[in-house]
Amino acid sequence: MLKVHEQPARPATGRRPLEGRTAIVTGSTSGIGLGIAAALAEAGAAVMLNGFGDPREIEDNRAMLSRTNDVDVAYDPADMTDPAAIRLMVERAVKRFGQVDIVVNNAGIQHVAPIEEFPADKWNAVIAINLSSAFHLIRSTFAGMRSRRFGRIVNISSAHGLIGSPFKSAYVAAKHGIVGLTKVVALEGAADNVTCNAVCPGYVWTPLVEQQIDGQARSHNISRDAVIRDVFLKNQPTGRFATVEEVGALAVFLCSEAAASITGSAIPVDGGWTAH
Ligand code: NAD
Repeated sequence: MLKVHEQPARPATGRRPLEGRTAIVTGSTSGIGLGIAAALAEAGAAVMLNGFGDPREIEDNRAMLSRTNDVDVAYDPADMTDPAAIRLMVERAVKRFGQVDIVVNNAGIQHVAPIEEFPADKWNAVIAINLSSAFHLIRSTFAGMRSRRFGRIVNISSAHGLIGSPFKSAYVAAKHGIVGLTKVVALEGAADNVTCNAVCPGYVWTPLVEQQIDGQARSHNISRDAVIRDVFLKNQPTGRFATVEEVGALAVFLCSEAAASITGSAIPVDGGWTAH
């Protein structure tokens, strides 16, 4: 799990772009989700963290984000495979924050295997966590956003929501599914100032990517270094990993007033990968 670096407490300097807003970020104990949660908190939003990990590290990050940014930061351990737990997480967020203005559907897992060897239970888990959890969370928060005539939903898809790659059947299916869900939710929320967009990162160096190296090396029959060079970065013309800060900054913008007319889109943060 990544650790957010301690920063000096921020002085009160005028209004921040998300001051007074409240957010749930799923899968925010690590990687991209933690980066987005940190960016939203820095922009002034109260944030409900979610995800798995070492309880002490989660609490350290929660307390540090709250203290550094002078916002309320909570944590809920809801398992994204469990629709009842997702509903409970929303109830707890409403009880604590009063309402939920922003939802970032970020929790995700990966499994890499050729389709004829792809375990059915891994297929089900990837679809549940990477796709169905977003449906359940949006379903539980959408009516409140519409009635208040403000809502921002950011779904973390992937470059694999726009194109395919071998050995990632469940992930590519789920990430394409998220792009479709994004369009429908955007259409249903548009008249009430509720936007919904998908963010499509290329490779970002996080535990999810590190964990794929061995599986990719086996499936392609190549070394770990070759996986990084010839699989991960081969198609990213910038020649480097995208960063959690770059994804976090886009999430903050999509949640701001200035992004009110951006809805139903799928925005790549992939160093030009999908421009090929
Ligand atoms: P990560 O492994 O660092 O973080 C995943 C997060 O999801 C963790 O907080 C984990 O605890 C949480 N999580 C996993 N299963 C869960 C469950 N059942 N219930 C609740 N939380 C759960 O991965 P990451 O790279 O930061 O990925 C975050 C999102 O970004 C994923 O949706 C992933 O598909 C997407 N993405 C990542 C990359 C990349 O290169 N890292 C590229 C494109 C898209």
